[in-house]
Amino acid sequence: MSNPSNLHVTGTLIWYYYICHREVWLMARNVVPDQDNPNVDLGRFIQDQTYQREKKEISFGNIKLDIIKKGKDGLVIGEVKKSSKFEASARMQLAFYLSELEKAGLKARGELFFPKEKKREALELNSELRAELDSAVRDILRIAYLDQPPEPMKCKWCKNCAYAEFCWA
Ligand code: SF4
Repeated sequence: MSNPSNLHVTGTLIWYYYICHREVWLMARNVVPDQDNPNVDLGRFIQDQTYQREKKEISFGNIKLDIIKKGKDGLVIGEVKKSSKFEASARMQLAFYLSELEKAGLKARGELFFPKEKKREALELNSELRAELDSAVRDILRIAYLDQPPEPMKCKWCKNCAYAEFCWA
């Protein structure tokens, strides 16, 4: 388990914040899930939500960003997702990346694509989104610094979770 003084918020923690707060604690503390669980590759769950064939990925620090293009009015970062099932996670993760780019002096806007549903959502870091992101980041840190993980709460994502054994055995 990692030292709480090293905790920092990542795009992955933002993603899981909108799914399960217990999982946020477990991931932030580097608790290693059940190695026999087929979902043990924690990145896989997020990756599975993404269209690999349409993906062009670039790295920025420890962030990986999909689809970057120069739009008419500046840089656009986007993510192509299989479905809008995890829309809140995808939306706030993209907002987090926009915010990290902004801290590095790069102004960008975001786009989420859900081709199967013929849906596209534009994302700009407006005051409402910034406030939502700030609140999520603060709450993720609050959760990560708890001495104990939040109690497990059965949800529809538990069956795909690498920590299922840990939570429910
Ligand atoms: S099994 Fe369920 S309660 Fe436990 S960490 Fe995973 S999603 Fe959360």
